[in-house]
Amino acid sequence: MEFDSHMSGVVLAATATVNVLAPGWSRGRQYLPPIGDELAEQVREALRSGVRRADAPIFPSQLEELAGYLTELRVMFFLLDSGDLDGACELLNKMIIDAEAMPTLSRHDGEPWHLHFHSPDASWAQGWAGAMATGLAMVLGSAMHDRLGLCSAPACDRAYVDTSRNGTRRFCSTACQNRVKAATFRERERQRAPSTPAADQP
Ligand SMILES: [Zn+2]
Repeated sequence: MEFDSHMSGVVLAATATVNVLAPGWSRGRQYLPPIGDELAEQVREALRSGVRRADAPIFPSQLEELAGYLTELRVMFFLLDSGDLDGACELLNKMIIDAEAMPTLSRHDGEPWHLHFHSPDASWAQGWAGAMATGLAMVLGSAMHDRLGLCSAPACDRAYVDTSRNGTRRFCSTACQNRVKAATFRERERQRAPSTPAADQP
């Protein structure tokens, strides 16, 4: 399933970046974002996971500005996960205004004309925040709004985009899917095992 190739990339980049920046739980372990150069590198990787040409180095001030915008996106995922679509949409509208998102046709670097979602003079972080907010708004404003979620495995709260054909994804990763499968299997085995006779107990 594709929302639209560029928009879909931006939505994937937004989700991956939120996951890098947000402390919480990831795949069974407590998660704290890295700091300094490592954080910049991981955010760059996250952006590139959706938008391949996002390969410029990121400066600390840019990172801080982007993190400020993306705090709201993290909250948006929580609202969606709790079934509050109204709240999530209101929050995205606020983010669109904060980031001064504005559709603008642009042509640069030998590319054909294409649509940007930020004004030509937006800062780097504002540009990304505007594009991410617009991309996510297109998802929330469509029948695909239930394609965004938070991992339902224990000790994990990472966000995901469900791009599967049937839209039944529940986990952030195969790692979490396998953890849950293994736990279900162990629980079944435990229930099947004969209980210890009372007489053997001290
Ligand atoms: Zn997970």
